[in-house]
Amino acid sequence: MDKMTAGERIMMAAMGQEPDRVPVFGVFNDWAWAQLYGKESLMDYSLDAEKLAKVMVWSCKEMGCDSAVVLPDVHPMAEAICEASGLPVPSVRWKDFIPTDAHTLYEGDLVNDPAYGNPIIQTLKDAEKIVPADPYKHGRLPVLIKATELAKKELKDEWPIGAMVENPISVGGGLMGWTQVFMAMEKDMELWKKIEEVTIESSYRFGIAQIKAGAVFGVSHTELPGRVGSKEFLAHPEWVQADYPPELYKRLWDEKQFGISLHACTVGPFVDGMDAWKTMLEHNPGLSFFMAESGGADALARTKEELAPAMVMGNIHPVDIMLHGSPSDVEEASVELIQKCGPGGRFQLGPGCTYSLDVPYENVKAMVDSAQKFGTYPIKI
Ligand SMILES: [Zn+2]
Repeated sequence: MDKMTAGERIMMAAMGQEPDRVPVFGVFNDWAWAQLYGKESLMDYSLDAEKLAKVMVWSCKEMGCDSAVVLPDVHPMAEAICEASGLPVPSVRWKDFIPTDAHTLYEGDLVNDPAYGNPIIQTLKDAEKIVPADPYKHGRLPVLIKATELAKKELKDEWPIGAMVENPISVGGGLMGWTQVFMAMEKDMELWKKIEEVTIESSYRFGIAQIKAGAVFGVSHTELPGRVGSKEFLAHPEWVQADYPPELYKRLWDEKQFGISLHACTVGPFVDGMDAWKTMLEHNPGLSFFMAESGGADALARTKEELAPAMVMGNIHPVDIMLHGSPSDVEEASVELIQKCGPGGRFQLGPGCTYSLDVPYENVKAMVDSAQKFGTYPIKI
C-alpha cells in the first residue's frame, strides 16, 4: 500500500531523496483514451474537455500512474497560431495523424530530410502573417486548459498534472516542415525569427494558462543535442535558442518555479547531447529529462549521473517491449531500470517515448505493478 501521495512521492524523488517507492511517469493520453473510448473515437480526442479530463483521472486513479500529462499530439500550438492568424491549419495536422507507432513523426533526420507535407509557411511574406495564439480562444488550446481544470478538481494536489509547452523547433516543424526550419535558420533568419518570436510568446501564454488551470510542471522536447551532438549544437547559437529558448523555459521557472521535463525524442543514441543538456541545466535548475529508450537502463543511469541533480524519466522501449513484449518482458525491463536508476531517487519509471494505441493494457499494468512490487525504497532487488 502506498504511504504517500503521488505528488509527495515525485517531489521527494525530485529533491534527490528516496520516497516510499519509485514513481511512474504518467501514461500517454492517446493510449489511455483508446482504452476508455476505443481506437475509433480517436478523431474526437482532445476536442472534448470532459472526456479528456476523465482519461487523465483514470490514468492516475485506476491505472496507478503518478502524474497525468495533457499531451494530445505535437500540433495544437501550430494549429492555434494558424487559427489566430487566419491561416488554414497545417498540412501535417491532427486529422492525418494516427499515432499507431512511437516516433511516427520523429524517425527522420531533422536537419537533412526532405520536407513532409505542404508547409503553410514558406516565405517571409507568409511568416509576416502570423500572430501569437490566445490560449483561451484558438484551436484546441481552450479544450486542453479546460481538461486540466476539470482533472485538477478530481486529482487535487495528490497527483501532479503536467502541461504542454512546445519549443520553436516543434511548432516550426508543424508550420514550415522540419527541414525548412533549419534552412531558414541558415539562410533566412528574418523568417525564422518571426516564427520563433510568435511561438515563444504563444507557448508562454499557454504555459501560464495551464498553470492557472492547475498544471504544476511542463513537458517539452529537446530534439537537437542528441541528434547532432553537444559540440555541434552549442556551436550554433540559433539552434540553441530554437531548441531551448530561455525566454520560455527559464522565464517560466524564474517567474512561477515551473519546471520543465525535456523529452529527448530519438530512435538513436541520445548521450551525445549530454554536455548541451548540462549547459541548459546550469542556467535552469528547474529542468528534468525524459529520455528515449536507446541504450536502455545503462544509458539512463549514466544520464542520471551526468545530469545530477536533475531527475530522469524513462526509458522502456515503446515498441520492442511495450508493444511487442509480454508483461514479463516489461517487468524485466522495469526491474533493471529500478536497480540501475532507482537508488537515491531522481528517477521515474516510464516508457522511452509515447507508445502505440495497440500496446496491451497488461503491459502498462506490468510497468505500474513493477514500481509497486520492486520499487519500494530502499531498493532491495
Ligand atoms: Zn519521443
